[in-house]
Amino acid sequence: MKRIGIAGAAGRMGCALVRAVKARPELTLAAAWERPGHAAVGRDTGEWAGLEAAGVQILDRPDFTVCDVLIDFTAPEATVALAQAATGKCNLVIGTTGLNAAQVKVLQGAGERSGVVYASNFSLGVNLLAILAEKAAAALNANYDMEIIEAHHNQKKDAPSGTALTLYQALCRGRGLDPATSEKYRGHEVTGARPQSEVGLHAVRGGDIVGDHTILFAGPGERLEFKHQAHSRDVFAHGAAGAAAWLAGKAAGWYSMADVLGLNAQ
Ligand code: NAD
Repeated sequence: MKRIGIAGAAGRMGCALVRAVKARPELTLAAAWERPGHAAVGRDTGEWAGLEAAGVQILDRPDFTVCDVLIDFTAPEATVALAQAATGKCNLVIGTTGLNAAQVKVLQGAGERSGVVYASNFSLGVNLLAILAEKAAAALNANYDMEIIEAHHNQKKDAPSGTALTLYQALCRGRGLDPATSEKYRGHEVTGARPQSEVGLHAVRGGDIVGDHTILFAGPGERLEFKHQAHSRDVFAHGAAGAAAWLAGKAAGWYSMADVLGLNAQ
């Protein structure tokens, strides 16, 4: 059995992760924790996630000693603190988005001591979409303008979404654009004719939308759209649980969901 710890166990993703870990026979929930002061601290993890009691109490601090892999979907500062504290004996699956470049560097440092899977999106569909987007950006010439439109629920903290930024990087790689200078948030203050050397990013926030991403290639006389819609957080939770099963016992290193899913080899 591979022993799993869940950070942010009472959050939207945390509860979906508790259910996803329970659904995989090769995984067992060994520890769960929340930020100090959260109402879930001291409660049973399974019951908080809407299941029968799991016999694992939600703590207010991490317990690395009982876990083979920790899954973290929390907030940037919490994720960085966890990555700094994690010992080499425990591998990490990290799904928190909205990290800045310095914070990602800290996670990469943890990848020198532990195995780390870091992904802005854990669904098979989005990881395949990133590969297709890069190919399409290369195959379509510069007359095909590229735009990313994403939509999420009204509680989402970061914008644009981590997935939109991953897709943006893929489009830049495919088209040979510099990702440091090509993104454009067009709106009230950015108007006028559109240069070919930019990729537009648009964030919509509302209701309980789990996560929609559309890539638009608009060219002369035609347009092509790629669209991904997540119906439920379960798709990310099952992806992360699968990543944890894959990562348990792996050597220190910095891994992607494409590695987990075997998409790099195709
Ligand atoms: P949420 O606010 O519902 O849950 C976050 C939880 O983390 C909360 O319960 C919060 O109390 C807890 N937390 C905060 N600080 C903590 C700490 N120091 N220790 C332990 N727990 C702490 O948010 P959510 O919708 O579950 O999303 C969480 C993160 O996951 C966000 O960054 C979101 O963008 C990201 N996300 C990623 C993917 C993906 O596939 N990579 C998918 C969905 C969401």
